[in-house]
Amino acid sequence: MHRCALPALRTLGNTCKTYRRMSDDIRQNRFERISSLFFGDKYEDFPVALLRCKGVVTGSAALEMYLGRGPEDLRDLNIVVPHGALADLEDWLVRVNYEEDQDGVTVKPALAQHVRTFCAYRAHDRTVTVTEAKGSDVMEVIVNSPTTAEMIAMTAGGMIVLYPELTESGDCLLGPSGGWDLKEGGRFGSVNGAWANLHSDTRYMSVPCGATCPSIWRHARSDRNMLTFVWDKRYTIRDIVQSARTEWRLMENCYNLHCNYGASSSNLRRWRLRSPSSWLHVSDRELDIIQHNPPFAPGFKALLYATQSDQPVIVNVPTAEGIEEYRTLDDLNVECWVRQRQITACCAQRLHLRKTYKIIPGHSSVGIDGSYTIFVEDPGAHPAHNALVTALARLKVSAELVLGNLLVFKHKDDDASTLCDMVDDDKGLVNLLLRNAIKTGNLPPGTPRL
Ligand SMILES: [Zn+2]
Repeated sequence: MHRCALPALRTLGNTCKTYRRMSDDIRQNRFERISSLFFGDKYEDFPVALLRCKGVVTGSAALEMYLGRGPEDLRDLNIVVPHGALADLEDWLVRVNYEEDQDGVTVKPALAQHVRTFCAYRAHDRTVTVTEAKGSDVMEVIVNSPTTAEMIAMTAGGMIVLYPELTESGDCLLGPSGGWDLKEGGRFGSVNGAWANLHSDTRYMSVPCGATCPSIWRHARSDRNMLTFVWDKRYTIRDIVQSARTEWRLMENCYNLHCNYGASSSNLRRWRLRSPSSWLHVSDRELDIIQHNPPFAPGFKALLYATQSDQPVIVNVPTAEGIEEYRTLDDLNVECWVRQRQITACCAQRLHLRKTYKIIPGHSSVGIDGSYTIFVEDPGAHPAHNALVTALARLKVSAELVLGNLLVFKHKDDDASTLCDMVDDDKGLVNLLLRNAIKTGNLPPGTPRL
């Protein structure tokens, strides 16, 4: 049982209370064995040091933890910390007798845009590497690992595995940052690849990818098709996952001949060239949504302020590809109406392009029934000037002009995940909300402006 993979341990833990305690103990012991390999009798301090810097362990150590094959051969411990947390962890590593290794491994060029600093520390024959993310989101580094086998992160009390099925079946796919220097059966990243079949794309698959298709956008906050384990709530990984801002996909197109989404990704690509800007484009886009194959699951009606429209229109926003049932705003295909990502991107940040309002900014006397969320477009998409919003907010020409479409959702209450359809009667209040949000400088932080 001590060599069981974590999913099997969880199945066992679900059978009764005694087994649950036993499987939690095994997971905890396994983490302690890995820690003691690197930190000797100071291993008990490692969970707190990791928690303090909001860091995660990734790469080979996390993979060994997941697969349960025994950590004896581990030589590297790879830690990812958010921007600003490196110094604190370095202090601790020096206290437990690690020395900085100036000749340590260099960061791969493809990962460089997501990494601020990369340091290696050595003690005896072990190496600890610390990757400091460019921003506050460690998941941005994890999803840009060279292969799916390394897209795994753990704290002292929990773990998230982004591609559990592939990893368990011994297959792994190159990530968008994966280099072509990787060889089947060789080492990739920090992982000994002898156990895995390395694939550069999905051509090898003989069944439909389904919702796990690597061309579909995913985000860590959703637990769909990913595995999350918690064995010690003091060091849970859920906070790190829930605050993740990064969305990603492995590849732009899927080459699995049996995949339903392969053709539709080129369909979506055409869509993303331009957001609908007038009523004519809006009706074309509505038709595209209806005709999409495979069909989108129904979503909600929202209010669109298209750049060249003379009034806001109510539009259908379906759920995203691969999503069968709506749970949160992240599940909606807002991309149909407001561009959120670059066309060829495989990694994006999106939370800054939306904002939820529970009151009218600068107008506290007007109560709102429920709440509203405004989505804006990605400034990198170079959207056009929004003539509708400018006229509506009675902005002077010399004033700061808003660019791109705006899409507004209505929530049943203060909880931004509970949506309801927008109706014509909502338009007056949303116009007021928008006008005040613009005039008080309260649009979403990422709003593109002239
Ligand atoms: Zn696919």
